[in-house]
Amino acid sequence: MAGKPGGNSDWQMETKAVHAGEFVDPATRASSPNLVMSVTFAPERLTGFSARDEQGYEGFIYGRVGSPTVAQLQAKLAALEGAEAALCYASGVAAAHALICGRLSRGDHLIIPDANYVGIAELARDTLPRFGIEVSYVDTSLPEEVEAAIRPTTRMLWLETPANPTMKLCDIALLSRLAHERGVRDVAVDSTYASPISTRPLDLGADFVIHSLTKYIGGHGDAMGGAVIGRSSDLEALNLEATVHFGGVLSPFNAWLILRGAATLPIRMRAHEKAALEVAQFLEGHPAVSRVFYPGLPSHPQHELARRQMRNFSGMLTFQTKESGLAVAQRMVERLEIIHYAVSLGHHRSLIYWIGTDDIQASTFRHSGDQLRRYRNFAGDGVFRLSVGIESSCDLIADLGRSL
Ligand code: PLP
Repeated sequence: MAGKPGGNSDWQMETKAVHAGEFVDPATRASSPNLVMSVTFAPERLTGFSARDEQGYEGFIYGRVGSPTVAQLQAKLAALEGAEAALCYASGVAAAHALICGRLSRGDHLIIPDANYVGIAELARDTLPRFGIEVSYVDTSLPEEVEAAIRPTTRMLWLETPANPTMKLCDIALLSRLAHERGVRDVAVDSTYASPISTRPLDLGADFVIHSLTKYIGGHGDAMGGAVIGRSSDLEALNLEATVHFGGVLSPFNAWLILRGAATLPIRMRAHEKAALEVAQFLEGHPAVSRVFYPGLPSHPQHELARRQMRNFSGMLTFQTKESGLAVAQRMVERLEIIHYAVSLGHHRSLIYWIGTDDIQASTFRHSGDQLRRYRNFAGDGVFRLSVGIESSCDLIADLGRSL
């Protein structure tokens, strides 16, 4: 069951983050959302046994088809993205899988960035072709390359902006227009790095937004989740097939944690942006650092697009060191006191990880010669991905300084 927008569409984001999808419980008058763990519900009238028979039934029947705490989170997410509906899944990758495999069939063609989040890049490269879905890898920061890749069978354009770990942006409005004009049915945007506080892809013409809720929206590194957000009619069809049959639903407990995290998303994003800009400026001026990619810095190659498309530059940045990244990473493991040397991102605590180019080209970005060269030109022997948390930037700068 897709969540309804919930709340007043005129509310500001800060108010939506707190109140959308939430209500005072009519039975107990509880002010905070209930955690409803029940997987089955006693319907008030006879219904059929298949989820298809439950269409049009307003209540809940079985947890894989819909459940109350998850529905409250779905309503909040839809409100934050200015969408009709949202569906939640067990992880960001489960959401991506549901959307791609729920919408595409054998013979359909998908365009995906040549460098994006590794889990989804590997799903596209290793799994989709086994099911007859053709995939092209394109530098989506270059509209002419996207245009050249479109075929009569292209059904979906997948965008990720800013992209993990390249920090490349793509112009959602321009590419959505271009793709739709050329007959591409679906434009899907992985907006995990940006969060709805920064960018609302549906307002710019995209058809679907996906989020890893594990990152900024949950925000505390204690609950995995994912979401697909878009039109009600599309999501109802997706729920029947991708949710009910693939089965990767979000646990109500995680939904409850993520609901609580989402309430503070606007203020956390402001804190992430402030600290990230200060850390990025420090790194840019540091003699041991060769390059910094942060959309909020004028040196970012797409800073102008970032100013147009992002209301908040977020807390993610990528940098390279002059010395071998591997040696610096080893010192970080030994010396960091505040920042955790760990994967993931978007949590309240800062996280850093080194992404070696040889490794990632062997495991994930296994492209043709030109694309391999382009990635190596960008990354050298590797890059550091830093997710700046909401700690004091002075403390983070001192912590990084000890390893650089
Ligand atoms: N999309 C992006 C941009 C990510 O960075 C990640 C994870 O790092 C995902 C999707 C996948 O999310 P999850 O780990 O919740 O499956």
